[in-house]
Amino acid sequence: MSQEMEHCQQQLKEKGYKFTNQRKTIIEILLSSQKHLLTAGQIYDETRQKNLPLNYSTVYRNLETLLESGLVKRVSLQDGTASYEYNRHRHHHHLICLKCHDAEMIDYCPYEDINRYIKEHTTFYPVEHRFEIYGYCEKCRKNMKRD
Ligand SMILES: [Zn+2]
Ligand SMILES: [Zn+2]
Ligand SMILES: [Zn+2]
Repeated sequence: MSQEMEHCQQQLKEKGYKFTNQRKTIIEILLSSQKHLLTAGQIYDETRQKNLPLNYSTVYRNLETLLESGLVKRVSLQDGTASYEYNRHRHHHHLICLKCHDAEMIDYCPYEDINRYIKEHTTFYPVEHRFEIYGYCEKCRKNMKRD
């Protein structure tokens, strides 16, 4: 087993979950995909392509467990679709295409500035933040021009 997979097994165990083949398959798909974020539907399609077909509901249920264990993170797209990524524990933000839903990550985080503003202007105590930037990827922009 790879180091990454051993880490996953360990983390699931700590939370009282088993490292089943189904969970392993889903993690492997998230780790090996060219796409930064995958919907449950895309993960389901991948399992079929890999000849390891899981039911859609099985994929969904296992994603919930992986979310709870902290191995996977969920990002909500603007239209309400949930997308998933393996939690690499490196803070980043997303550029998400409104047309094809592909996502890119950016390391830049403007949070320091926002945090300073919150401290100066409010009594709120923030613990977490997330934001996504929506637009159109290069591929989709090219296709739009052609239409
Ligand atoms: Zn696109
Ligand atoms: Zn990400
Ligand atoms: Zn940030």
